[in-house]
Amino acid sequence: MSSIDEKVEPIYKAVLDRNPGEIEFHQAVREVLESLGPVLVKHPEFADHRIIERICEPERQIIFRVPWVDDKNVVQINRGFRVEFNSALGPYKGGLRFHPSVYLGIIKFLGFEQIFKNALTGLPIGGGKGGSDFDPKGKSDAEVMRFCQSFMTELYRHLGEYTDVPAGDIGVGGREIGYMFGQYKRITNRWEAGVLTGKGLDWGGSLVRTEATGYGATFFVDEMLKVRNESFDGKTCIVSGSGNVSIYTMEKIAQLGGKTVACSDSNGYIYDEKGIDLDLVKQLKEVERRRIKNYVDVYKHAKYISKGNIWEVPCQVAMPSATQNEINGKDAEMLVKNGCIAVGEGANMPTTPEGIKVFLDAKIAYGPGKAANAGGVATSALEMQQNASRDSWSFEYTEDRLRQIMRNIHKTCYETAEEYGAPGNYVTGANISAFIKVAQAMVAFGVI
Ligand code: NDP
Repeated sequence: MSSIDEKVEPIYKAVLDRNPGEIEFHQAVREVLESLGPVLVKHPEFADHRIIERICEPERQIIFRVPWVDDKNVVQINRGFRVEFNSALGPYKGGLRFHPSVYLGIIKFLGFEQIFKNALTGLPIGGGKGGSDFDPKGKSDAEVMRFCQSFMTELYRHLGEYTDVPAGDIGVGGREIGYMFGQYKRITNRWEAGVLTGKGLDWGGSLVRTEATGYGATFFVDEMLKVRNESFDGKTCIVSGSGNVSIYTMEKIAQLGGKTVACSDSNGYIYDEKGIDLDLVKQLKEVERRRIKNYVDVYKHAKYISKGNIWEVPCQVAMPSATQNEINGKDAEMLVKNGCIAVGEGANMPTTPEGIKVFLDAKIAYGPGKAANAGGVATSALEMQQNASRDSWSFEYTEDRLRQIMRNIHKTCYETAEEYGAPGNYVTGANISAFIKVAQAMVAFGVI
């Protein structure tokens, strides 16, 4: 781990004391605070206004009971969360995660990251995140619907197009957004498109939103490669996960001339030396909701490695797109040793601090999630723009906007890293440029 500036250290200690046991939140805060020492030298006003202390404390945290009835008529109880972290730049914006591992510390780490990610997009959105410990796996459509309706019956009172606008994340895709939008509409008697993003195309959704996080992450890596006079063309790639982000990362990699040879789910990974057949993965995961191991039922030449470590597969570009802390120090060493030259994070905080250090020390191109995967939320903001103007844009125009946004994020991170004496370090560049933007707005608003 790197060190924290002595002026910032007591703030980090206070975060640890005030948020006991929330280890993912501590990790996300530490990673940002490690970059901020030099900012306080240039901007002493941020210390006077105690901006770092304020930014680490969510504006509002909502925890609620979600009761629902399963198909056997048994009452089930889950816990719902929404952390409205920071609204300096716009309404709270960030996805909902449905996964059994969800607890307050996970939602706070995601909400904290979201503040800076959203600032990097250059669009008017604040940071928030929510979800539940509900596990959609193995549930019927009717059970998922009843859960989503109960979840929204509490959450709706905290939402609004100028207040808080959720979207999807792990376990929340088009089906879940549909059930939640339907319930919001029913309770409020308002057809308020701008209250949720990731909607279906027939009812207020935006083209490219489904693809946006994966496409955006791939665009970001493409920019990092260009700086090094490289491209995706002919590169062997690994993309962990096989959900929304993973699938559209693999799609864009193929369009840019790369070949993905491995992807995964939480049970294992598949390796296909001929390149992953994306149509089959989409059929298995998006249509049939099956497991990635079913890939080898169709392609006998491919291998399924149960409980295996995907990062042992040699590659030139790695794009972790499953979950937090999926690459540790040893995995990172293995990737570098095997010739990996670029890592772009589609997932949020997929690399541990030890892993990040390995990538930075090896000076490979390392794009942290808050910059590399900002394309999803950026396109959500474009969906909000279309909703506000009662308009819908073409695929080509929307993808072009996304590509431009990712280029701008890359440029901002790259130039800020240079300005602060850390050339090529996108972690420093992302943290500092995003923090300054939010901090300046907070100073302007006074003590609120
Ligand atoms: P999905 O639910 O669509 O897919 C998640 C994928 O990751 C699944 O294949 C899942 O496998 C796998 N996975 C989850 N946990 C683990 C684990 N512990 N080990 C191995 N694989 C695992 O989610 P998304 O694709 O939407 O999200 C993936 C990541 O991207 C998350 O970190 C999310 O926060 C981040 N992200 C998503 C955005 C979006 O727009 N959707 C925007 C920005 C970031 P299984 O089916 O076995 O659980």
